[in-house]
Amino acid sequence: MTATVRVCRACDEVITDPADAVVVAHELSNSGPGWDVWAHREHAADVEVIDPDLLRIMTRIWVAKTAAQ
Ligand SMILES: [Zn+2]
Repeated sequence: MTATVRVCRACDEVITDPADAVVVAHELSNSGPGWDVWAHREHAADVEVIDPDLLRIMTRIWVAKTAAQ
């Protein structure tokens, strides 16, 4: 077995229990086959909402609201 370290995308903690690790996404890479994105079982729901496009939109809205105050 390889010593792959799985880090939870939601909380950035290492997932020590393989039974607690779930794949929440697969990211593509320009230079390879890409990689799986892992999360703790209980954090998987939190990761799913972190979509890069959604995050960019939300950040824009947040910046606009902050600037308007
Ligand atoms: Zn976690």
